[in-house]
Amino acid sequence: MIGIVGGGLAGLAAAYRLQQAGREAHVFEAADAVGGLAATYETSGDRIEAFYHHLSKSEETIVELAAELGVDDRLEWRYGSDAYYVDGVVHPMNKPWEILAYPHLSLYDKFRLGMLVLDIDVRGGVPSFDSYERLEDFEDVPVKEFILEHTSRGCFEHFFLPLLRAKFGDRWEEVSAAWLLGRIKFRGERDILKGEVLGYFDGGFATLLDALVEAVGRENITTGARVTDLECTDGVSTMTVETADGETTHAVDDAVVAAMPNVLEDLTGYECDIDFQGTVCSVISVDEPLTDTYWLNIAEEVPFGALIEHTNFVPPERYGGEHLLYAVSYIQRPEEELWQMDDSGVEEAWLDGIESLFPEFDRESVNWIRTARNPRTAPIYERGYLDMVVPYDLGDAAPGVYYAGMASRAQYPERSLDGAIEAGYAAADAILET
Ligand SMILES: Cc1cc2nc3c(=O)[nH]c(=O)nc-3n(C[C@H](O)[C@H](O)[C@H](O)COP(=O)(O)OP(=O)(O)OC[C@H]3O[C@@H](n4cnc5c(N)ncnc54)[C@H](O)[C@@H]3O)c2cc1C
Repeated sequence: MIGIVGGGLAGLAAAYRLQQAGREAHVFEAADAVGGLAATYETSGDRIEAFYHHLSKSEETIVELAAELGVDDRLEWRYGSDAYYVDGVVHPMNKPWEILAYPHLSLYDKFRLGMLVLDIDVRGGVPSFDSYERLEDFEDVPVKEFILEHTSRGCFEHFFLPLLRAKFGDRWEEVSAAWLLGRIKFRGERDILKGEVLGYFDGGFATLLDALVEAVGRENITTGARVTDLECTDGVSTMTVETADGETTHAVDDAVVAAMPNVLEDLTGYECDIDFQGTVCSVISVDEPLTDTYWLNIAEEVPFGALIEHTNFVPPERYGGEHLLYAVSYIQRPEEELWQMDDSGVEEAWLDGIESLFPEFDRESVNWIRTARNPRTAPIYERGYLDMVVPYDLGDAAPGVYYAGMASRAQYPERSLDGAIEAGYAAADAILET
């Protein structure tokens, strides 16, 4: 039997792949439910993810998995509108004329930004195509230096800087240009008139998760089961698991750690130098929509970097008519004020922030708020990141242990559900190859 640590998408995908190849696999999940960062809340209609989620058109592995599991007909592609809140105004940023009308960038800034997005390097006046294809070439280039050189100071100050600060706080300067370019490419398909095409399941990502759990077999998954020790040699190993009923040990042929690298380190001593940021994220149910935008980036001093109005993407009828929006902030270190607050403090801070941006917002229109927080939700994609990724096969460092967590190569240049599935498959394939 192969023991899998973690029942997020990566661990479940690894179990599925191993079983497809005729191997026995068992998933141990510390939380009471599977799903990890893609776990969901109940609403008066469909379930909704505790942390916002959508797919990009460039992601294929998750679509193939949905087809294998027979839920691809429930995957819907919709337009997700974007806007930028600056100086009290919501600027839509979807259609060419909306971008042209954006007052905080000059025409020259917009031209340089457009060329970067189209993968055209216009430095020196001679256009060069597909210039940003090899992300590895930009791995050691500081993001600020890259933006200033490849776009303009206006683009840097009025477009990228607020977004970088919202995502990485005061650590934004450590990020590599490769991450930025990866993000630009990752944002798959756009319709010139309607905006970006994004994927979401009818029933939310719970649709995929439930189908995957069914395929793996509920009898092969134990929740409320934290793996606390791994004794690994190149043959049979033992996995110690703690549940409410006490501690059990399991003989395993191999182990897949499909969790954050700190878990890998605790279990095997393997050290990974990648730093992670945390997230505080609330779902707020309101009677009325706040804006008509899905994704609102915010260049103002408020405690959240973005407001994501889920029901401007997926119809509110799916949630019993409630309008659902996410307020989200990334946390760079535990001392930060927001991280120290309890849920009611966070929720107060969000509502104060929303009120300051939208004075007409009425707190009485809030039905409920649910807050999720997790200290490790995304890597800081700093320069030299690729040298720090954890290999799928840990080799002599931990014989018989394979890694499928967020510090793996498949989760670069941005972590995603698709990347989690790829990582799970890659760790399973590494086992199958031995
Ligand atoms: C705010 C936010 C927004 C996101 N938006 C998107 C998006 O729009 N699109 C997208 O594709 N992706 C998005 N993601 C990323 C996506 O959620 C992750 O990449 C993916 O869910 C990671 O899956 P995983 O299985 O690798 O890790 P996790 O989901 O973290 O799963 C790891 C599991 O291991 C368990 N575990 C830990 N230690 C132990 C132990 N000792 N024993 C047993 N179990 C253990 C944990 O409880 C957890 O369930 C977002 C993430 C966040 C936080």
